[in-house]
Amino acid sequence: MPKTMRAQILEKPYRMALHEVPVPEIAPDEVLIKIRYCGICGSDWGAYIGKYADEAALLPLTIGHEFMGTIAEIGSSVPKTISQGDRVSADICLTCGTCYHCRRGEGLLCSTFRQIGIHTAETSGGYSEYIKVPWKNIYKIPDSVSDYQAAFIEPLTACLHAARNMNLKMASSIAVIGCGLGIIHGALVKLRGAAPVIIVGDNAKRLQTAKEICADYTINIKETPDAVAEVLRITDGIGADYVLEAVGSSKTYEQAFKMLRKGGTLESFGICSDDDFASIRPVSWVLEEKKVSGSCAGIGNDWGDAIALLQYKRIDPTPLISMIVPLEETEIALKELRENPDLVKVLVSPEIDKRIILYN
Ligand SMILES: [Zn+2]
Ligand SMILES: [Zn+2]
Repeated sequence: MPKTMRAQILEKPYRMALHEVPVPEIAPDEVLIKIRYCGICGSDWGAYIGKYADEAALLPLTIGHEFMGTIAEIGSSVPKTISQGDRVSADICLTCGTCYHCRRGEGLLCSTFRQIGIHTAETSGGYSEYIKVPWKNIYKIPDSVSDYQAAFIEPLTACLHAARNMNLKMASSIAVIGCGLGIIHGALVKLRGAAPVIIVGDNAKRLQTAKEICADYTINIKETPDAVAEVLRITDGIGADYVLEAVGSSKTYEQAFKMLRKGGTLESFGICSDDDFASIRPVSWVLEEKKVSGSCAGIGNDWGDAIALLQYKRIDPTPLISMIVPLEETEIALKELRENPDLVKVLVSPEIDKRIILYN
């Protein structure tokens, strides 16, 4: 095992640099993963620009939480079922197991909740060569799931968790605001029998992909700015049974509430800044009986279930993967994702030295 590795360190907002750092040392109950791919999440951009105050306070550290790789080192108390070279994904959630929420099975609300690659300097993050995780967080990847698909497991768990919370009934209408992970949300609710699936976005190419994967209707707000009116038109003036917000802005949350039918459910997924406020009329909850549900991430069995959906080909995120860049280009790729409308999901790999472009 090498003693040092390359790691991108987010030193402060707007500044990420490649460093040579010690390979994380594992405890007896941990494993070391040699990273093959790590997807760039929209929230990584938020972390990069210092959008989330609590995360900015933790810098410097290596971020990147959508990683997959192979087992490189195994702690002394790890069961023999885990072997060197196993292809794995990891539940990134670290919970105490004993607080009020953990004991009620609400690990995402744990009072000391942290996520690997978001809040943990000691583990390293996905934008490096190695990362350490507790062995209990490891999920083996079946042979029929590709490495690219495996790099999509973490975002898929988050979408799956939202789908579970929303508990959409068959033949219900849904409007999904956002055409990044919104496309995966659309694919999941289509699996649950949603009809119609409406995807709202601002990117023609992504909306075309949404059409191919899951959408019955797409609304491009660059051509049709009044998405609320358009959803009402499609639903005969009633509004959508469910609306899922996957952008993370107060404006789109306000629109979400307006396009939701009376008695409908808003599933909140997009993360706003701490100081963002939306104005929503409380009568929406009372006289119109609109409901709000929220979900922030995947945890625990969301991992096993996401893997099952990939393994049995119920969902395939491969068309969303636009490009793979070498570790050296992480910061450039973060910026390119904001500027190049052709990019949907970009993976970072420490194992390549030239970018691989998959979109055309
Ligand atoms: Zn993410
Ligand atoms: Zn806890």
